[in-house]
Amino acid sequence: MGRLDILEDGAVAISNGKIISVAKSNAILDNYDAPERIDATGKTVTPGLIDAHTHFVFAGSRETELELKIQGMKYLEILAKGGGILRTVRDTRKASKNELLDVCRSRAHNLLKHGTTTIEAKSGYGLELPTEIKSLEVINSLNEEGPLSLTPTFLGAHAIPQEFEGKVAEYVSLVSEDWIPRIQQLRLAAFCDVFCEKGVFEIEDSKKILLAGKAHGLMPRIHADELSPLGGAELASELGAASADHLLYASEVGMERMKEAGVIATLLPAAPLTLMLGKYANARKFIEIGVPLALGSDLSPSCLLENYQLVIALACYEMRMTPAEAFTAATINAAHSIKKADRIGSIERGKIADIVIFDVSDYRFLGYQLGSNAADVVIKNGKVAVREGRLE
Ligand SMILES: [Zn+2]
Repeated sequence: MGRLDILEDGAVAISNGKIISVAKSNAILDNYDAPERIDATGKTVTPGLIDAHTHFVFAGSRETELELKIQGMKYLEILAKGGGILRTVRDTRKASKNELLDVCRSRAHNLLKHGTTTIEAKSGYGLELPTEIKSLEVINSLNEEGPLSLTPTFLGAHAIPQEFEGKVAEYVSLVSEDWIPRIQQLRLAAFCDVFCEKGVFEIEDSKKILLAGKAHGLMPRIHADELSPLGGAELASELGAASADHLLYASEVGMERMKEAGVIATLLPAAPLTLMLGKYANARKFIEIGVPLALGSDLSPSCLLENYQLVIALACYEMRMTPAEAFTAATINAAHSIKKADRIGSIERGKIADIVIFDVSDYRFLGYQLGSNAADVVIKNGKVAVREGRLE
């Protein structure tokens, strides 16, 4: 993860949305005559950034909860009071599909402007079938519309809806036996995810849902060991999940199993930052054990982060990843986390031309600088999508 393949004075030739050659500038200029040339002298050209964990589809916002967090109220306490996710659930249920599309489209544009070209996008603010379907339809529509690519994940088990308070088993059965087959029938999702946590969906519940997903062709990924050591990393390994995410409390045994099972660890440093946990996932331990790390923003109403460059910086400053490791995690490893590494995540011949030109002289600036937007030109599917920070 710490070794980047950097080509100084390089150039990229693109045709029909694909990368057709990567070589020294002279060689490219001698061999290709392109209708458009973009000069990136003095700048840094990278693969489009890939965000492997977002709660992208939601209506409303939760700025009023910041004060509660500052006063020390815990996430699960806010949830127990009908705030947190449950508030967003009310707002998202109320929004029409078109309203939700509009909100999400402008969100997609903001991500693109900051250099993100592909995201994993979860449902999970419906907690009832019609709104879960509406959310996944929004993801699929925006993916078709472009330019941002979205990979849809069904997260019906994001929280226990108020209607099912005290009836977790009933809800788990409903999700597994009724909703998942329906989602699959409609071809709305690639992955199935669960918020596996003490007092929410515990190990057996999570297993039941993820196995049902797997049986219906939805690859498992999981919110694991975020707030307590529950054994989510072990479960992810047992199920052969594509990714286990958060992992602040993952056990060493769990990490070892993830390595053996080839499960990617998707770390989300902005989540503990905005939850004010004062603790981060042990990235160095994962790297030492040899588990591949990916990154994600955890974009949600609780973590309103649209500049993915900041996640790279947080990975460096808070999790002690080197800029090169963070870069690998935000590109090719994030592509592996969403099973798209054969098409995106690196600048290689044959891959889709998703490329960012950052207005910095060295890639390390992305780990080093905080919150500024260095994305100058964003190329998606071989076309310029953003120029000088503005959508084309
Ligand atoms: Zn999440």
